[in-house]
Amino acid sequence: MSKSLSIGDFEITTVQDHRGTDRDPSQIYPDVPGTAWDPYRGFALDPDGFYRSQWRGHLIRPSDGGPALLVDTGMGPGPHDHTGMPGELLASLSALGVEPEDIGIVVITHTHGDHIGWNVSYDGGTPRPTFPNARYIVARADWEHYSRQENSNEAFDRSVKPLEGLGVLELVEGVHEIRPGVSTLPTNGHTPGHQCILVKSGGQTGVVTGDLFHNVAQISEQDWCPIFDWDTTISTRSRRELLGRAEREGWTVFSGHLGIDKSIGKVVRSGEKPSWQPL
Ligand SMILES: [Zn+2]
Repeated sequence: MSKSLSIGDFEITTVQDHRGTDRDPSQIYPDVPGTAWDPYRGFALDPDGFYRSQWRGHLIRPSDGGPALLVDTGMGPGPHDHTGMPGELLASLSALGVEPEDIGIVVITHTHGDHIGWNVSYDGGTPRPTFPNARYIVARADWEHYSRQENSNEAFDRSVKPLEGLGVLELVEGVHEIRPGVSTLPTNGHTPGHQCILVKSGGQTGVVTGDLFHNVAQISEQDWCPIFDWDTTISTRSRRELLGRAEREGWTVFSGHLGIDKSIGKVVRSGEKPSWQPL
């Protein structure tokens, strides 16, 4: 279920949490007419016209023995309504030989519920960090936005807010070096503080893209925005900039929600529009 690729001195591995809900493109992309999907149906949609998202995190392991990083923590323990089954993130980590105490840094691309679910565990009503030796890196813009009363939601209140009182929260802005070779890269729009995680090592670049795009058709149609985007003008600009760089510079892209078989890829161009080449 996991897939690994090396970027110089780092190994980046997908960590499955759970199968996400099935998505109807007409509901998720209401501004995109059904016929506009036609060139992409064969690989962006299933035969029934829906697409399946996945919930996952990414493990970044440096070869120098430094602490492992976990990018995003999935939807959480569950059990989840659409399957009746629990999330699998901790079991997926364990299958990779990684226990919660081995994670030194948790970095969150953005604070939506399907990226923060395993941040905090509850013993009775008392929160504790699921990853007891980690500091948790969150974009300040997301923290400030979702801390406001009018934007508050249960997932944020349950899985991000307690990190402050537990003394493990680190708020960051702009390009922030997490450790040599790994940094945040602001790509806001999906949320006010959405950030990608950039890994540069040995002449190679990998990028974990969170929710910069949700469906593989957005690699070719970079101005298509799902209803989840907070500001579609800004999210479109961020998507174009990041995917343009990835295309020009040959970056390896680790997606947040694409199917397991095509979740890692490169942005390539053979015709007029860029497309996704799974690795
Ligand atoms: Zn998401």
